[in-house]
Amino acid sequence: MMDDVLLTTGIPSREQIESRVPPKERREKGPFVVIECFQEIPCDPCYHSCRFGAIREFESINDIPEVDLDKCTGCGICVGSCPGLAIFVVDETFSETECLIALPYEFIPLPAKGGEVLLLNRAGEEVGKGKVHIVVPGKKPAGTSVIWVRAPKELSMEVRNVKVLTEGGARCE
Ligand code: SF4
Ligand code: SF4
Repeated sequence: MMDDVLLTTGIPSREQIESRVPPKERREKGPFVVIECFQEIPCDPCYHSCRFGAIREFESINDIPEVDLDKCTGCGICVGSCPGLAIFVVDETFSETECLIALPYEFIPLPAKGGEVLLLNRAGEEVGKGKVHIVVPGKKPAGTSVIWVRAPKELSMEVRNVKVLTEGGARCE
């Protein structure tokens, strides 16, 4: 049954979010997918997008996706496939102090590598500043662009959106 908090606010509960956090040992191995999809809806592009078999085969199109983290390479391909913008990739091995987070990005123009961003949480609240590290333009007709941002490591499971401040140097209007 859908969680009350999700139903009333559109934001997953702490319990739901924690159910998607891999064990410490897996987080230390490299990038991993985080699928914040908690509703039974007729949708399955995530399953079809993963060429590594890391998203378990759906028995019904209404299934909630399940991940095999031993198979997930953290490639980020599934991030741009999700119409619900519910998939992220987190890499906590990027550096001592920073993580990388892959996020779906639907606005144009796309930011440039090195551009400064405000880091936002699931409620759209600013939690810090980061930088664009990689930009992967979406493939037509349905693929959403994906940007990988550098963020303070302690925010790896908080940042789920960004607001672009500078596009590789020049401020965006
Ligand atoms: S990040 Fe890559 S390997 Fe992992 S579930 Fe998504 S598509 Fe599959
Ligand atoms: S594509 Fe997105 S919304 Fe659809 S089932 Fe997968 S994670 Fe959920």
